[in-house]
Amino acid sequence: MKTVLIGVGQAGGKLTRELVDFDDRMEFGAVLDAVAVNSAKADLQEIPFETVLVGQDRVKGHGVGGDNELGADVMQSDKTEVLSALDDSVSAEAEAIFVVAGLGGGTGSGGAPVLVKELKRIYDVPVYALGILPGRNEGAMYQVNAGRSLKTVAREADSLLLVDNDAFRSSGESLEQGFDAINRAIAQRVGLLFASGEAVEGVAESVVDSSEVINTLRSGGIAALGYAAAESAEDAEGNINTVMSTTRRALLTGTSLPEASKADSALLVIAGEPDTIPRKGVERARRWVEEETGSLQVRGGDFPLRSGRIASLILLGGVERSDRLEAFMQRAKDAVKEAKEAEEREDPADAWSNDELDDLI
Ligand code: GDP
Repeated sequence: MKTVLIGVGQAGGKLTRELVDFDDRMEFGAVLDAVAVNSAKADLQEIPFETVLVGQDRVKGHGVGGDNELGADVMQSDKTEVLSALDDSVSAEAEAIFVVAGLGGGTGSGGAPVLVKELKRIYDVPVYALGILPGRNEGAMYQVNAGRSLKTVAREADSLLLVDNDAFRSSGESLEQGFDAINRAIAQRVGLLFASGEAVEGVAESVVDSSEVINTLRSGGIAALGYAAAESAEDAEGNINTVMSTTRRALLTGTSLPEASKADSALLVIAGEPDTIPRKGVERARRWVEEETGSLQVRGGDFPLRSGRIASLILLGGVERSDRLEAFMQRAKDAVKEAKEAEEREDPADAWSNDELDDLI
């Protein structure tokens, strides 16, 4: 799927960079172009592709400091500049646009929904968001920002592919090291998804087409992506059980939104050397995904890849009823309540004097 990426805010820019690197390294050619947008000048300095600094008149290149309303305002004021930077990037070849952002901060959280809405107005291709949810240990402000942004982005975008920072966190790492590892893990999974929708020359059977990715996301709302891989056997027969076990792991423990397994639609992609992909195993795995997700719309296909491993990649569409998401929304609501209570105690240091917080309750 030929994709144009727009990273908004710090996390959005860093993850977009990781996606571009992965696509280059693997020589997939699925990422057509990328642009990074930020209100903090320093965060744009390391970006090796086109950048746009927004809100210079308001925040003088210093960022919006976690204020996502200000993030939305500066994007609204400077949208013309952002859109003109995208003019050349979104060529006739483009099949999808992804707006990438951390939902818990300021620039990405506030700016992404505004940008998605504008892009939808202008372009005919689907406009998706790739949104990062704050981990449960992050502060109340992040939870509130993300709760509000998530609702708006999910409404405006053709689909919001959610990544929970807690899904990929490993212990013993600093926050920064942790982010880098998370970004690499996300880039690998999302990068494979973009690439799996690419035409592969010389391979006839069951190759995934971009339209299958788009159709899986057609129900809108919230999407998640699961992945697991294992050592491949030398022939297809030897991989029947492996395909089943990687598929189970991809869905049950490997998704970007833990505990999201009920879905409206799904796409199961098996990646590996073409002659080691077992038809029988793939069909069995697809039926299992149907049962497990409760969806009657489970698409499937192979992704030929030169590798000693075999991998299952599962895209889930329409996962908004997941327990994990409900737990997150509850966390965001609790954070709002605490902020309001602090406000009532007239403790301005802890309070957000913001009527829109009511939205979440
Ligand atoms: P912004 O620049 O104002 O949009 O704010 P950030 O992009 O820093 O957003 C903050 C949120 O994104 C928090 O929930 C962070 O945990 C998360 N975050 C920041 N940097 C990264 C990153 O590199 N990777 C990931 N996965 N999350 C990040």
